Amino acid sequence: MERTVTPTIAAPPVNSPSPAPSKPVRRGLEPAWTVDDARELYQIRRWGGGFFDINELGHVVTRPHKTATPEVDLHEVIQGLKERGLKTPVIVAFSDLLNRRLKDLHQAFTSAIGEHGYKGIYRAVYPIKVNQQRHVVEEIQACGKELGFGLEVGSKPELLAVMGMTTETPDSLIICNGFKEDKYVEFVTLAAKLGRTIIPVIENIQELRLILKQAEIHNVRPKIGVRVNLNSPGAGRWRHSTGAKAKFGLSIAETLEVLALLKRENMQDCFQLLHCHLGSQIHDIRNVNAGVNELTRVYVELAKMGAGLKYLDVGGGLGVDYDGSQTNFEFSTNYSLAEYASNVVYRVMSVCDEEGIDHPTIITESGRAMVAHHSVLIFDILGSNSTDRFTVPEEFANLKESDDDTPRPILDLLDAYRNVTERRLLECYHDALQAREEAMSLFNLGHLSLQHRSMVDQLFWATTAKIRDKCRDMDSIPEELEDLETNLADTYFGNLSIFQSLPDIWAINQIFPVMPIHRLNEQPTRHAIIADVTCDSDGKIDRFVDLRDIKKTLELHPIKNGDEYYLAAFLVGAYQETLGDLHNLFGDTHVVHIRLDENGKWWINHVVEGDAVREVLSYVQYEPEKLRQEIRRECERAVRDNRMSVAESQALSKAYENGLAGYTYLE
Ligand code: PLP
Repeated sequence: MERTVTPTIAAPPVNSPSPAPSKPVRRGLEPAWTVDDARELYQIRRWGGGFFDINELGHVVTRPHKTATPEVDLHEVIQGLKERGLKTPVIVAFSDLLNRRLKDLHQAFTSAIGEHGYKGIYRAVYPIKVNQQRHVVEEIQACGKELGFGLEVGSKPELLAVMGMTTETPDSLIICNGFKEDKYVEFVTLAAKLGRTIIPVIENIQELRLILKQAEIHNVRPKIGVRVNLNSPGAGRWRHSTGAKAKFGLSIAETLEVLALLKRENMQDCFQLLHCHLGSQIHDIRNVNAGVNELTRVYVELAKMGAGLKYLDVGGGLGVDYDGSQTNFEFSTNYSLAEYASNVVYRVMSVCDEEGIDHPTIITESGRAMVAHHSVLIFDILGSNSTDRFTVPEEFANLKESDDDTPRPILDLLDAYRNVTERRLLECYHDALQAREEAMSLFNLGHLSLQHRSMVDQLFWATTAKIRDKCRDMDSIPEELEDLETNLADTYFGNLSIFQSLPDIWAINQIFPVMPIHRLNEQPTRHAIIADVTCDSDGKIDRFVDLRDIKKTLELHPIKNGDEYYLAAFLVGAYQETLGDLHNLFGDTHVVHIRLDENGKWWINHVVEGDAVREVLSYVQYEPEKLRQEIRRECERAVRDNRMSVAESQALSKAYENGLAGYTYLE
C-alpha cells in the first residue's frame, strides 16, 4: 500500500539552533489559517474516533464521552503536571475514555445480538498482555463487572496477577492461553477449586495430560478449551497466528484426539470452549468473516460429536484505525466496531442454525481495540536542525565565470543557484548534483581546499532549497524532485525514546498519529521528521498519517530557543509501554491517570512515576549507592590533592546524588 521512493540525496548533519523561517506550507492568497485547517492537516477527526479534537485556543482536547463537553485540554494538563513537578515525556491515560471504549464494544455486540435475534450472550475478555498496568486492568475489571467482562492471561505470571485481582469476582471469565507447564496448570486447577470461572485453552496436545493430572490430584472437574488452527488465512502482520505452521494451536486431527481422549475418560462435557486467534490488527473484514465461519463449522461438528461446547472464542484481532483512512491498509481497518460485531454474531448464528446447534456464548479477546485510544504520549521538543541555514553569502555574488581562482564545480554550482526558475528546475538540479559530485572527487584527490568544500555545501543546499521552494508553488512536481521536501526536512529532537515508548514504530514500522498539542491556530511552516534522544539512528519518526498515503515529513511550527513546544503520539495504549525497552537506559515514562468529576473537570486519579536513573541502573545490576560513594571518595581525593575546592566537591557529590534520583529523560 505504501509507496517508498529511494532518496537521491541525503541531508547533511547540521547544527542550527534556530531555523530560519521557510516558505509557508500553503501558498497564494489564501484565507488566514484556522483550527479547521489544522484539523484537516493532521486528520484528527478521522483517526480520533470522536475522542480528540482541537479547541478555539488551538489546543488538542480529549473528549472522553465523544460529546462536545466535557473536554480536557491537553496543553492545560501538561501545565498542571508541571506545577506538580511532573515533566514530559508523560503518558496521559484517560480512564473515562477507556470506560467508553469498553461500553462501545459491549454495545456493538448487544445491538448485533438484538438485531439478529441471537440466543446466546457475549462476553469480552481483556488480554492483559496488551497493557498490563495495574490501574488499566483494574479499570477494565471495575467497568467490566457491570458488562460481564473477564480477563485473558498468556503466562503463569499473568495468571498469578489475575488470580489475586479476582477474589471478589469469581463469576467473571478467566481464559488461560500460552505455553503451560505443570505449575501453570496447577494454579489454573486451584483457581477453579477456589470457585473461579477459569478455562485453560490447550495450545498443544501435551497440555491435556497436565490438565487431567491436576484435575485428578485436586479432585476438580475442569472446564477445558482448545485452540484450533484454521485453514482460513489470518490477516496482516500477524497472519501466521493461524494455519498449519502456526506457533500455537491444535490441528483438526489433534482436536479430534482431544475429544476422543476426553470421551474415554467420560469427560467430554468438560470440552466447553473452542478458540482461535486470527492475528492482531486484522485490517480486512473478509478475514474475520472467513475465520469465524470456519471456526463455527468446527464448533458445530464437535458439538454434534458430543463435546460439551458452550463457548466460542474468536480471539483478538479487532483492529484500530490508526491513520483514520478506513481502508484495508495494515494500520487501518475497513470496518467499524458495529460491522465487526454484526458479522461475528451473524456468522456464528447462521452456521449454528444450519446444523441445529444452540447458539454459544461468544467470547472476544480484543485487546488493542479496548485500550489503544485511552493513552496519549506527550513529549517536548528540545530543539531542531534545519538545512535552511545554508544561505549563499554575499561575497559569492561577486564571483565571475572567468574567476581563475575558483574551482570549476563551484562556478557551476553558482550558475545553477542563480538560474533556478520554474522552467529550468530539473536542469538546475542535475547541474547542482553533477557539480557537487565533481567537487567531492577533487576534494578526495586533494585538489580542493576545506574552504572550497564548505562553499560547495552551502551552494548545493541553497540551490536545492530554492528548487524545493519553487516546487511548493507547482501543481505537479517532476518525479525526481518529489523527495526534495523529505531530504530538506528539519529534524525536531523529541524528549522521548522510541524504543521505550513507541517500540512498534521501530520494530514493525507502525504508524501512530503524531501532532502538536498547541499552536494549532497558527500555521505550521516547517516540514520535519522527529528524532528521539537515544544514540541510535533508528530512534526516529519519519512516517506520518496521511489520508491517501504515508507522509514522510510532519508539518510543525518553527521554534526558537527557549520556546516550549509539545507534540503527542495518540492511540498508544496498546502494546507500547509493555514492549518498550531500556535502550540507552531511558526508562519508563511517568503515567498519569486522569478522570473527570461530575462537573466535567479533570483531576489526577493516579500518578505512576517513571523510572529514576537509580532504578534503571539497578535493572542492569549496578549498585547506585556504591557508585555514589565512589564519586564521593574521589571528590575527597580531589580536595586533598588541591584539584577541587571543598565547595566544588560538595556540589559535584550533590549533583551526582540528585542525578541518580532524577528522571532518565532530559529535565
Ligand atoms: N488473544 C491472543 C491469543 C493473542 O495472541 C492476542 C494478541 O496477539 C490477543 C488475544 C489480542 O489481540 P488484539 O490486541 O489484536 O485484539
